[in-house]
Amino acid sequence: MTVDLDWNNLGFDYMKLPFRYISHFKDGKWDDGELTDDATLHISESSPSLHYGQQGFEGLKAYRTKDGHIQLFRPDQNAARLQKTAERLMMAPVPTEKFVDAVVQVAKANEDYVPPYGTGATLYIRPLLIGVGPVIGVQPAPEYIFTVFAMPVGPYFKGGFKPTNFVVSYDYDRAAPHGTGAAKVGGNYAASLIPGQNAHHTGYSDVIYLDPATHTTIEEVGSANFFGITKDGTFVTPKSPSILPSITKYSLLWLAEHRLGLKVAETTIKIDELDDIAEAGACGTAAVVAPIGAIDIKDKHHVFYSETEAGPITTKLYEELTGIQFGDVEAPEGWIVKVD
Ligand SMILES: *Cc1c(COP(=O)(O)O)cnc(C)c1O
Repeated sequence: MTVDLDWNNLGFDYMKLPFRYISHFKDGKWDDGELTDDATLHISESSPSLHYGQQGFEGLKAYRTKDGHIQLFRPDQNAARLQKTAERLMMAPVPTEKFVDAVVQVAKANEDYVPPYGTGATLYIRPLLIGVGPVIGVQPAPEYIFTVFAMPVGPYFKGGFKPTNFVVSYDYDRAAPHGTGAAKVGGNYAASLIPGQNAHHTGYSDVIYLDPATHTTIEEVGSANFFGITKDGTFVTPKSPSILPSITKYSLLWLAEHRLGLKVAETTIKIDELDDIAEAGACGTAAVVAPIGAIDIKDKHHVFYSETEAGPITTKLYEELTGIQFGDVEAPEGWIVKVD
């Protein structure tokens, strides 16, 4: 039985659910991990995650299907990415099997909070890996905590599947050329708070970041990747070592090629050569597929397909992706993990 919530009007807000998973890494190994109702972490005041940013996280969703079951979308990819993040920050990696098992346990334990099919809402799941323990020098933590919690959410960008506008950031970058842009770490988000808030205050959904070295090519949106559909029907998305490799983006890339029959390319997208791009969007687990109406580049207002209507290919990609996630469209091999 699902709990009684206003499922159609959920925002993207924290909600304390009954259960979360927690596991500790100590003396070189992970313990078995367990579900707990304790939503507060108890850690040393000198934990490196607090002082030196030695932490990383993930984001994925559980979906309610038409027949009432619960399923996950490509959780093995989140596990692999958290392992890459752990490697970059010298943290203890969480094995894929342990990661997926933790996520399944949390979705199952909180099943009453997985939104009903048809509301568009989902259970957002947040795995978190932090370095803990009593050290004050700059060095990797002796111990780690891996925790997974969850909450029901609605659309990340207000309005759902409707175009919104973005602004190009020239004053701030989210990542350095050989920094941690490709790792899902909190520090990248701390760096994006000022430009993000400036963008929200001036009426934009979010910021579009350019390559930090030259400010000439598109990198990504603050918390989502960028894609475009060119006038000759090619799905294009930026290639750069400082972009966070979005699982949604690589899924769309595959679907564009194999389900929609488009040409696809990970390539350079110059900010002053956008006339060739007919449709544009932002994509990520939270953003899903969010059509971009227009972007402001300094004084220039560049409209893509339309500021009020999503383009036809963006719409098809959205339907194919969400169809798979909610179990209405046949998934490619290995993309869906059933929770119950
Ligand atoms: C998590 C994230 C994304 C989206 O990745 P998905 O795997 O599609 O959810 C995009 N950009 C940044 C900066 C992110 O942190």
